[in-house]
Amino acid sequence: MAVYFDHNATTPLCPSAREAWLDANNARWHNPSSLYRSAGEANIALNDARGVLADYLGCEAEQILFNSGATEGNHSLMAWAAERWPEGKIAISGIEHPSVREPAQRYFPAERRLELPVDEEGRVRLDALDGILGGGGVRFVSVMAACNETGVLQPWKEIAARCHAQGIVLHTDATQWIGKLPVGGLASDCDYVTGSAHKFGGPKGCGFLKIASENDAYAGQNGGPQEFRRRAGTQNVPAVLAMLAALEWADGESRRCAERIGLERDQFEREVCKVVPGTRIVGGKAPRLWNTTLLAMPDFEHVRWLTRLDRLGFQVSTGSACSSGDAGPSHTLQAMGVDFPTMKRVLRVSAGWQTRGEDWEALGEAFAATFADMASPKGRLSGQGIAADPRRL
Ligand code: PMP
Repeated sequence: MAVYFDHNATTPLCPSAREAWLDANNARWHNPSSLYRSAGEANIALNDARGVLADYLGCEAEQILFNSGATEGNHSLMAWAAERWPEGKIAISGIEHPSVREPAQRYFPAERRLELPVDEEGRVRLDALDGILGGGGVRFVSVMAACNETGVLQPWKEIAARCHAQGIVLHTDATQWIGKLPVGGLASDCDYVTGSAHKFGGPKGCGFLKIASENDAYAGQNGGPQEFRRRAGTQNVPAVLAMLAALEWADGESRRCAERIGLERDQFEREVCKVVPGTRIVGGKAPRLWNTTLLAMPDFEHVRWLTRLDRLGFQVSTGSACSSGDAGPSHTLQAMGVDFPTMKRVLRVSAGWQTRGEDWEALGEAFAATFADMASPKGRLSGQGIAADPRRL
């Protein structure tokens, strides 16, 4: 059995989510908009789930729109914001997920689009934010809560205060935060919040968008009355019920395990830095998610590391899952000022609630063995001790 260390890409279904999904597919599969009793029961279950999520986030049920996940939420929001403020500018951080970044590029012409720089640890620079907001014309800001690649947490409280002092609307993509860290004031401080079930033990293809208020002007998808006429399409009741079951589970597991796993992660980092001298932890000086580490290896391309670790039974990532099939460099690392050769040597390790201390230890040993193997004369001969050649990028 492989040991899974790619939870920021997706998580396995947790037991309670699986049960909720199966139960709902047996008993709550009707279209919640239909008029007979069984459909009404599905609709009640859907709205109960909405109420539970609203309580969890600290908002009104009418502010929750269920959808197919964070990509949809981010994309729809960007499309709507461009329409809502036809003259206004948008400012997004340089480390946003492609599902924010690419729709922003699509819907906002370059002269209406500003990039918020981050420091070398990957935190949005508040001084730069002040400058950009002070320049006028910005109506909408988007900064993720926690970075999928580095795990670095963003100062959303400070960002929200600065935006709101000037009447500017703030969106946070909280896909990697929700379920892993207490939600705190996140959903009340940020006007729009996107989240995704499969990052915290729920099913894929299910998520939500929290909008600014019950009377918000937000209009997403047309074509039906569902989700307060803001997001048309038959709701996936079993997936929503499974998402809520997963959130309850993840919240409990996070409280129970986060500290332990964070300490084990830190120990693992120390170990790798010892057995593979020259390893650097990207974003390692900033507050981070307890489950994530992004390692910049001193030698050998990440795909080579990944393949060998996989053979040894450890599943890690080269960065974000979404860009791992993509030859281009990570825009997140570029924004952090990481050079191209280093970008080709980063490995992301992201744990989950079931990750045990011995899994971290075994992974550390696998790193040591892999490095010894690749660095041996035979290993170097067989391949690519040429990772640092920027022409290969
Ligand atoms: N935002 C972030 C920060 C993510 O990590 C991801 C998933 N990689 C997404 C958005 C997209 O989420 P989904 O898979 O639900 O579309």
